[in-house]
Amino acid sequence: MNIAGNLLIGQTTVRGSNGATYAIDASTGERMEPPFGGATAQDLDAACALAWTAFDIYRETSLESRAQFLEAIASNILELGDTLIERCVRESGLPRARIEGERARTVGQLNMFAGVVREGDFLDARIDPAQPERKPLPRVDLRMRYIGLGPVAVFGASNFPLAFSVAGGDTASALAAGCPVIVKAHSAHPGTSELVGMAVRKAVKDCGMPEGTFSLLFGSGREIGQGLVRDPRIKAVGFTGSRHAGTELISIGASRSEPIPVYAEMSSINPVLIFPHALESRGDAIARAFVQSLTLGAGQFCTNPGLILAVDGPALDDFIRSASAALGDVPAATMLTPGIQSAFDKAVSNMAAHPHVKTEARGGAASSPNQGQGVLFSTTAQAFLAFAELQEEIFGSSSLIVRCPDLASMLKLVESLEGQLTSALHIDEEDYEDVRAFLPALERRTGRILINGFGTGVEVGHAMVHGGPYPSTADGRSSSVGSLAIERFLRPVSYQDMPDSLLPGALKSSNPLKINRRIDGKIALAQK
Ligand code: NAP
Repeated sequence: MNIAGNLLIGQTTVRGSNGATYAIDASTGERMEPPFGGATAQDLDAACALAWTAFDIYRETSLESRAQFLEAIASNILELGDTLIERCVRESGLPRARIEGERARTVGQLNMFAGVVREGDFLDARIDPAQPERKPLPRVDLRMRYIGLGPVAVFGASNFPLAFSVAGGDTASALAAGCPVIVKAHSAHPGTSELVGMAVRKAVKDCGMPEGTFSLLFGSGREIGQGLVRDPRIKAVGFTGSRHAGTELISIGASRSEPIPVYAEMSSINPVLIFPHALESRGDAIARAFVQSLTLGAGQFCTNPGLILAVDGPALDDFIRSASAALGDVPAATMLTPGIQSAFDKAVSNMAAHPHVKTEARGGAASSPNQGQGVLFSTTAQAFLAFAELQEEIFGSSSLIVRCPDLASMLKLVESLEGQLTSALHIDEEDYEDVRAFLPALERRTGRILINGFGTGVEVGHAMVHGGPYPSTADGRSSSVGSLAIERFLRPVSYQDMPDSLLPGALKSSNPLKINRRIDGKIALAQK
């Protein structure tokens, strides 16, 4: 399959005429062919019109055909083979093994959502049968199911060119919910985006889905991205990226004449709390595992451990020595884009120049363009509480160790944190009593609390929460990873006294979809 630099508007291939951009080889800085034509306002309008027309048809496709559609996308992505992997490696600067792993995750997510759709539990079908004899008033027949919200705009993420991009978690969950998707491709990996876009478009055609089920647009965030969020036919947004862009999109979504949810995943420093017994008994092993997590993928993970909290003393000094030694052995790594690399360098310089911050260690120096050098800082609890800028995410392999005088001040510091995607606790059994006091504070500000591990390596499953209070995400009631992600794009509808022949299949008395339902509040398992 050839990369041509075209927009995919439904089944039509369109040459974008709003300027041209090129992909950059992340490792060499070289410009890559071909040029990608940017979408115009007319292209955006055409994609939205098609998506809107598709919505009522697509959301009523049978569960089985929608599941097969998601599986077809997955197998079409695999069929792209090395063409996809090689382009993605060049555009992202990420190693081949990582990209292969990410492809497996992307395909796995699509197949997981196919299973969720087939099962039908996401419809949450409920039936409260009529009770005509009820006194003093008869009860109406009330039935409820969830439907898709409408067309969804998805912003591809720079740091997951496959798993959170054109056919990534946001797209898979929106399509599973019955929502057509329009993707605004990330400018860092346009060729990867077009290849995956063609895989999705082929599945739309082969599976007989309505044309507007999927479109892919190139263009700037300010023009095309914001244009999508403003368009009245778009009913929800999935975004992963900077706090600045996410916050702007949230405010655009909220200020429309019909406000819509913008599910933005933005910034998180993912505190790691090392409790005294664990620090004393295995500080060295924790330090080495921490550096591995910190430097994975050049630190460009939303769950990167950017903050370490521990009680000051000789055990923490030893931990810092071990972590510094481990970091010194890690070579600098290519970052996703020159912009992300220069933002990292600038943030690291600012942190290093902060009068209350000490630079403890640096990783191997950069040896080619666009590389990020790992760095470890330390500060005091007092300074961390006094200077809000020390809480800001530095996207890349940078972490700040806070020396806390005691556990009470460590808890105070936790209470000062913004919303986080993850909190990791390193504990031995002797620490359990102390840990108990931290859990309420951590639950209030974290999406996922994990023990004796690090937040990087997000399992895609049914119990995963990849979300958290602002600013880690725009809406801490949801998750962008795992099957829970489908809930972001659904809305309940009740049907009162509707004749059986007019009811949707999910709610007909004969249960033709053979799904589990809640009858009078009690789960009635389907006879499969
Ligand atoms: P970004 O600048 O937020 O861009 C993400 C997407 O949003 C791109 O498609 C971009 O379009 C668009 N966009 C940017 N500004 C916009 C605006 N004002 N209005 C509407 N759309 C806008 O993120 P990035 O390029 O991936 O990386 C930049 C920084 O974001 C990183 O250095 C890091 O700090 C942060 N980041 C954080 C995470 C995380 O998981 N926490 C992940 C990725 C990035 P264009 O094509 O026009 O750029």
